[in-house]
Amino acid sequence: MAVIGLGRFGGAVALELESQGTEVLGIDNDEDKVQAFNGQLTHVVRADSTKEEVLRQLSVHEFDRVVVGIGTDIEASILTASRLLKFVTPIIWAKAISEPHAEILEQLGVQHVVRPENDMGRRIAHLVRGAMLDYVEFEDNFVMIRTSPPTIAQDRPLEVLQLRSKFDITVVAVKRRGGVWEHTTGQTVLYDDDQIIVQGSKNKAEAFSSLV
Ligand code: ATP
Repeated sequence: MAVIGLGRFGGAVALELESQGTEVLGIDNDEDKVQAFNGQLTHVVRADSTKEEVLRQLSVHEFDRVVVGIGTDIEASILTASRLLKFVTPIIWAKAISEPHAEILEQLGVQHVVRPENDMGRRIAHLVRGAMLDYVEFEDNFVMIRTSPPTIAQDRPLEVLQLRSKFDITVVAVKRRGGVWEHTTGQTVLYDDDQIIVQGSKNKAEAFSSLV
């Protein structure tokens, strides 16, 4: 994978990919950034990503996925994305720092546009509000929430409790104190000191989690 722009966002993405065993080509036009990431990523190159020939020389057109972490310099972000879109192979993930920026990237055809501050702000709002320990939102208002089991979901097997029909949610996994995450079955019994993952529509899953 290639990560272009090794700022706070791109840098974090690149390091996390490497720590998971993915080889990363990091590209930045700032020598200090290149120095900082040298040795931490598989390859780090100082280059200007707004130039198509530069990207080709680095074989970026042959990568499966490319992340564009340039934000503040919107012109560089848009130019880089439009160069990358000429290449057939890579799926592009790009960071946007504002709504208009996101709109332009989407109109250009970038497949995945992320707004880290916004996305994280929304996530934090859910965590701050209540008992939720983790909150992930997918498209179409579908969410997964890590929380504790409400009293109503404890001490009896899930097949008896009928949470799916009563609350329109599914408890997909459980983690006992000191244990690891496991799938639930109909026979699973939840206890007060467990953690669970609840999935369902945003309203239903939040309502269930707020019973804690
Ligand atoms: P963050 O908040 O993630 O730190 P940012 O939103 O402030 O980043 P920028 O400062 O615009 O984003 O860019 C992030 C990185 O991208 C910087 O390290 C910058 O040097 C690099 N960058 C900017 N323009 C180019 C370019 N044309 N080619 C390569 N790298 C670039």
